[in-house]
Amino acid sequence: QSYTANPSRYESMIYRRSGKSGVLLPAMSIGLWHNFGFVDALQNGRDILRTAFDLGITHFDLANNYGPPYGSAEETFGTIFKKDFKPYRDELFIASKAGYDMWPGPYGNFGSRKYLIASIDQSLKRMGLDYVDIFYHHRPDPDTPLEETMGALADIVRQGKALYVGISNYKPKETALAASILKQLNVPFILHQARYSMFDRWVEDGLLHTLNENGVGCIAFSPLAQGLLTDKYLNGIPEGSRAAKNLTYLDTQTVSTNLNKIRKLNEIAQKRGQKLSQMAIAWILRQTQVASVLVGASSSKQLKENIKTLDNLNFTEEELERINTIIS
Ligand code: NDP
Repeated sequence: QSYTANPSRYESMIYRRSGKSGVLLPAMSIGLWHNFGFVDALQNGRDILRTAFDLGITHFDLANNYGPPYGSAEETFGTIFKKDFKPYRDELFIASKAGYDMWPGPYGNFGSRKYLIASIDQSLKRMGLDYVDIFYHHRPDPDTPLEETMGALADIVRQGKALYVGISNYKPKETALAASILKQLNVPFILHQARYSMFDRWVEDGLLHTLNENGVGCIAFSPLAQGLLTDKYLNGIPEGSRAAKNLTYLDTQTVSTNLNKIRKLNEIAQKRGQKLSQMAIAWILRQTQVASVLVGASSSKQLKENIKTLDNLNFTEEELERINTIIS
């Protein structure tokens, strides 16, 4: 059935500026790493994206190799885009990336100009788009000169295939270097995508400061530590959950190692009148350098629950201290 976006979609979302750029991002964005492959149900993905946009989530995050199989999340997105979102193209901020293994041989991985230029063309075809709003180098490549990788990003912008560029998983020093090269090339570098959650605070150790100095925003991925920072694992490993699937870094062992902390954090969340997932997201948004928190969802129900985070973003000093004690 055809889709008409919720007319009040912009009323309750909070939009935050990405660094010193002109771009406003929704405080919460949606990622298509999981749940959008050919192995997943198309209707469910469609429902998640419709729900997201109806809630004012204007930013959809993809990468060349999301799936499985690789490329299939972009194809699924292309199918949904054509059916539902084409009339709303200018209201959407769409991301893709290249940097991890994508196709066989020496030109389908890492950071060469050869790889990045071919990959953006493939991504645009799969998604049925003329351009993406932001294109990222997905991870640093220690063996390719940074000038080559950043030069490729610059040319992708000049060719009109991306409006802005970003980097992901770069450490503070590499980030500062990338920023200075991109500045010389006059390319709008507006976002760094980094893992950040109560269980992984590496960005607090210099990255956020570097981004602030360079006027670049941060978008935080895996804010729920892939589902650990929710109430779903409190009483075991539910069937169909990410830990049960054992697909990625989240396995049953990680769940049991962290269970004690999760339980304690859940108590604090309850006292705040919040779900643990909501408290975990709000805790990230306390950082002003973070423009958006990039969540994943396996159902629209999860997304609707997570968006309620925005009803209470405040923490008392005492709450922050108690959280700190548990997670450090
Ligand atoms: P999250 O930490 O938000 O984990 C999402 C998972 O948590 C969901 O799939 C679901 O798991 C569970 N979940 C979400 N909400 C709830 C809820 N309310 N109650 C219970 N469980 C919930 O983020 P992701 O790890 O998915 O990462 C988000 C996005 O970040 C990705 O899609 C991708 O776009 C980006 N990313 C970027 C990376 C990079 O290198 N640049 C690396 C990784 C991610 P379940 O399936 O078990 O229901």
